[in-house]
Amino acid sequence: MKTRRFFVALHACLHGFINGCRPLLFLDKVPLKATNEYKLLVAAAVDADDGVFPLAFNVVEDENYDSWGWFLMHLKIALQTHKYPCNGMTFLSNGQMGLDAAVSHVFEDGEHAFCLHHIIEEFKGELRKGPWSQQIREGMVEDFTRAAQACSIEDFNASIESIRNISSEAADWIIASKPEHWSDAIFRGFRYDHFSLNIVDAFDNWIPAKKESSIVLMVDSLRIKIKEVTESRLEACKVWEGPLTPTMEYKVQDEMLKAGKMTVLCSSETVFEVRGNAVFVVNIGNWECTCRRWQLSGLPCMHAIAVFNRLGRCFYDYCPKFFRIESYHLTYSGIIFPIPDLDSVDFSAGANLLPLPPKRRTSDKPRRKRSNPNKISTLTRLCSRCKQTGHNKATCEVQF
Ligand SMILES: [Zn+2]
Ligand SMILES: [Zn+2]
Repeated sequence: MKTRRFFVALHACLHGFINGCRPLLFLDKVPLKATNEYKLLVAAAVDADDGVFPLAFNVVEDENYDSWGWFLMHLKIALQTHKYPCNGMTFLSNGQMGLDAAVSHVFEDGEHAFCLHHIIEEFKGELRKGPWSQQIREGMVEDFTRAAQACSIEDFNASIESIRNISSEAADWIIASKPEHWSDAIFRGFRYDHFSLNIVDAFDNWIPAKKESSIVLMVDSLRIKIKEVTESRLEACKVWEGPLTPTMEYKVQDEMLKAGKMTVLCSSETVFEVRGNAVFVVNIGNWECTCRRWQLSGLPCMHAIAVFNRLGRCFYDYCPKFFRIESYHLTYSGIIFPIPDLDSVDFSAGANLLPLPPKRRTSDKPRRKRSNPNKISTLTRLCSRCKQTGHNKATCEVQF
């Protein structure tokens, strides 16, 4: 069997993710139209304006625990060689095809969210097996969605109980579907209000079908597309006025409108009681509110904004840097170098196939000790100038 795995992470993408994006990665398969010979996997981030940003791609023979593990391991090495800490990351995937185990194996302390859209579709499938009318099923799906987005355990339980009143099997199915991977009340990572993998669908049309016949042409069309997207986004952001990107500014303004109607009581220098329809406690030292919206979205909630208004402080000082226009610029500041004339090269003779692993030695001469026993694969090419991955000597930007 031929080994067909190819990891690609442009230096510009690694640089853009590390310097400008939240520690949140979406993992999915990109559907190919013209070939069944290999599969294309992607790890993508979101930029400061919530636009999808590709970090790495991997061509593999099939989608399973082994190939996802291989991809994630190479991704981790690429990030680590660029001094990215790799701890406290959050991953979002459908949790299937070996992904659940592969993520926890490679990123031991990472948090792994399951795509809510996928789980809801599965839940709908389960409900169709039951005797309920469409109206009752839709009500249960609404309760399910409410449970997933509930910020507190109490609200989560209340929504599950209202499903249990109709069907204890349906409620048990939900509890068995690992809510620690999708419920805001229980999940411990940081999704910044991203619940589904849908944004990764943007890659579906990045590769023209005629380029899918060759791994090299496919990877090159990804490079061209990344360059196009980078240029158009850099152009679009020229008219933005900061400090936040438009999407984040819109979210904060929405909270700001609701903050006006609240009363603020001071408990200490950093802890405040905020009264609206209910009472919430804001801690501006820890960037927390008991409503949990601040922690979950990453942006100050209406209660926190009420506190800042009372103190005469600027709420922009409490917005993380990866929601700011300067981070957006950093994400797209890497240079993607042209590779001339790939169209004129003939790859049809199998030149793009990866070499087979060497045959086992049959002679009884003593083996030479391998220089680096920890090296995972010879497919990780190092830059001959700086010895890092993700680029080569011609595109090296490392300064000594
Ligand atoms: Zn709050
Ligand atoms: Zn280099």
